[in-house]
Amino acid sequence: MKPFFQTIGVIGAGAMGRGIVQIAAQAGSQVKIFDRDAQASARAVDELGQQWDKQVAKGRMEPAQAAACKARLTIPAALSDLRDCQLVVEAVVERLDIKKALFAELEGIVAADAVLVSNTSSLSVTAIAAGLKHPERFAGYHFFNPVPLMKVVEVICGLKTGAACADALTTYARQIGHTPVRAQDTPGFIVNHAGRGYGTEALRLVSEGVADFATVDRILKDQVGFKLGPFELMDLTALDVSHPVMESIYQQYYQEPRYRPSVITAQRLAGGLLGRKTGEGFYKYSQGAAEWPAEPAVPTVKDMPPVWVSPRATRRAELLQLLKDLGASIETGQSPSMQALTLVAPLGFDITTVAVVERLDPARTVGIDMLIDDAATKRRVLATNPATRADMRDAAHALFARDGKAVSVIRDSGGFVTQRVVATIVNIASDMCQQGVCSPQDLETAVTLGLGYPQGPLAMGNRYGPTNILEVLFNMQTVYGDPRYRPSPWLRRRGAIGLSLMQEES
Ligand code: NAD
Repeated sequence: MKPFFQTIGVIGAGAMGRGIVQIAAQAGSQVKIFDRDAQASARAVDELGQQWDKQVAKGRMEPAQAAACKARLTIPAALSDLRDCQLVVEAVVERLDIKKALFAELEGIVAADAVLVSNTSSLSVTAIAAGLKHPERFAGYHFFNPVPLMKVVEVICGLKTGAACADALTTYARQIGHTPVRAQDTPGFIVNHAGRGYGTEALRLVSEGVADFATVDRILKDQVGFKLGPFELMDLTALDVSHPVMESIYQQYYQEPRYRPSVITAQRLAGGLLGRKTGEGFYKYSQGAAEWPAEPAVPTVKDMPPVWVSPRATRRAELLQLLKDLGASIETGQSPSMQALTLVAPLGFDITTVAVVERLDPARTVGIDMLIDDAATKRRVLATNPATRADMRDAAHALFARDGKAVSVIRDSGGFVTQRVVATIVNIASDMCQQGVCSPQDLETAVTLGLGYPQGPLAMGNRYGPTNILEVLFNMQTVYGDPRYRPSPWLRRRGAIGLSLMQEES
């Protein structure tokens, strides 16, 4: 099958341009690679040739196929040589003035019906198109790094982008082996916008002293199933890339508190602790592997106190069964005895507030995060309040570690770690649906392919229960009095009528 765009131009032979050239040539398009630095184009052609040769050596590609791919690449001498391209993809430096000037020049070169796209990750597509004679044939075409492996592309419609242009780009995306998702021209588009919840909330937890980097990473990986913890992820992306994205989206949304960046990353960026590529970020790296601090040891407790569980505990029946399985001596009275370890399991509220409201002795009160079914997690998370006695904290730690499951003990915070991060991710995704950034389905696809989350944010919300997520957010708002936990109306409405978060309104 012939590709929709048979001859394309790619401007900018850097990391992104090269990847786009690779997949387009593999799909059968003739590709002209133009870079203002002619050596960069030559290097790209060389490297792609070597890559295809390696594929042949590994038996993953036929020699004839590799030869055909190589033959499809040309290096034009001047921009004017792109005149016969049906599609031109721009992947040059991220500067509005440079991109605008380039497209203005291109409009005088290509045919009237040629499609022009920018791979910008942070500039407004509408702003790049402003001043073009034919903005209807212009769109954003946002690939991710490394292009051949990250199999999603955002097709971004500016205010003037025509439907035919977006449809053609969608068709071509599939032909080059990528999954297209449609986004409106809004800051961060889909992936970079939806990704705000994970890192920013994790940074807030650390900045509030709730837990350290490694503990937050361990909890989110073991409880929710993220492949990388937020701090591991920031180390991989590097702070010189991720901190400016956080700042840019925050500023573009006129300082919306949900996207507020953290002083932690600002300082680390200034100090050069960028991540893996500089050998030190949140973790130190030796020979490419992160040095993880050891897990705190499980305390030895001689006399295990009896345990009393608050009647208001989340998943109370499951918690009682778990305690039974762990061999705890469970008190059944209306209130705890003087010896009892007192367990609470709130959603959103902090342990201090629960102890005060339920008139419990804070010195013996410990919280456990029961948002997620214990059987579905690899780690239990306990939280103390400022008055919790060390012997009660140690007893709870030792008790919940009896069956060998990992246990983390964190400081008091509304919403533990998982509740806060998951609720923030779901809330931001819901708000994106509210704003019409994209369809719920495209949001899920973009996040799973672009961010590698174990499931899309809306599916995550459904899994843990929209009403539970709402309870976390409402209570967090009460604890912190902060608008960043204000639930999106989109989430509230669906939670209230028990609708799946994946369902679109008719
Ligand atoms: P890069 O620095 O690796 O490559 C840019 C290339 O463009 C260089 O070879 C440079 O010589 C060339 N160039 C600069 N100005 C030019 C001009 N006026 N005309 C022709 N060539 C010019 O950059 P990159 O990482 O490939 O990023 C390119 C674009 O893709 C940027 O807009 C960036 O925001 C976006 N993007 C990057 C990533 C990423 O992870 N690197 C991901 C998605 C989108």
